[in-house]
Amino acid sequence: MDSIKKFLLVIVISILMLPARTFSMKKLCKKLIVRSLSIGFRKKKKVLVLMGPPGSGKTTLSNMLSEEINWSKFSAGKICKNLNISESGELVADEFICLELKNWLNENFSSSSGIIIDGFPRTVKQAKSLNSLLGDNLGHSDLKVVSLKYDPETIIYQTSNRYVCSNKECSKVYLLTDCSSLVPKKGMICDRCSSTLVRRRDDEPEIVEKRLKAYHGYEKKLTSFYKNEHLDFVAFKLDFDDSALSLDEQFEKFKELIGIN
Ligand SMILES: [Zn+2]
Repeated sequence: MDSIKKFLLVIVISILMLPARTFSMKKLCKKLIVRSLSIGFRKKKKVLVLMGPPGSGKTTLSNMLSEEINWSKFSAGKICKNLNISESGELVADEFICLELKNWLNENFSSSSGIIIDGFPRTVKQAKSLNSLLGDNLGHSDLKVVSLKYDPETIIYQTSNRYVCSNKECSKVYLLTDCSSLVPKKGMICDRCSSTLVRRRDDEPEIVEKRLKAYHGYEKKLTSFYKNEHLDFVAFKLDFDDSALSLDEQFEKFKELIGIN
């Protein structure tokens, strides 16, 4: 429907161009036609929001997407860590992250084939800000929200066995549980960049329990917000210890779910 409207606009401009006698008028009309065509055939940008508590697989999935299909990722958790801001959701941090996301989108939106937003929004206010950023300021976008399902006991077990690459540019995540498919190939060294692996302080069981409780608090509100807004909202569960499906097979299912296969 949009393309038809743009096509009609081009026809109208072309008709108006007929009596344009001066060079500058013709030049202006040509510019308008090129602009109309570029808007008419612009593809909607896919934007994926990953909701989930620590250990539910947000980072793993966003890393896989960015490695395989080169999508750009914004990680609210990473911003908080780099700036030493608590992730527990204080209002100051909320406002600050909204601004960080706005600047990041302005820099990355047009040049990226797809966008992943990990760990944001956390409040309904933030979800509204995101809609407005994508809708009003950044043009056409196809937003999909994925809520990652979890089992609290498994999360605590897994995060206490989770290690990450100490190289901030890499941050690849490893899981040292018995049936894990995310074990490093050579001891405590990153497969991708050979940096050493470290355990995050946030992965201590008591801190994880606190963060799970906080997540549970805003998960319900955000879920009903997205459902009421009739936005594309789906659920997915990533099993790191599932022997039936490998991580790659689960990733294929995930890509199918978000419509990029
Ligand atoms: Zn690494």
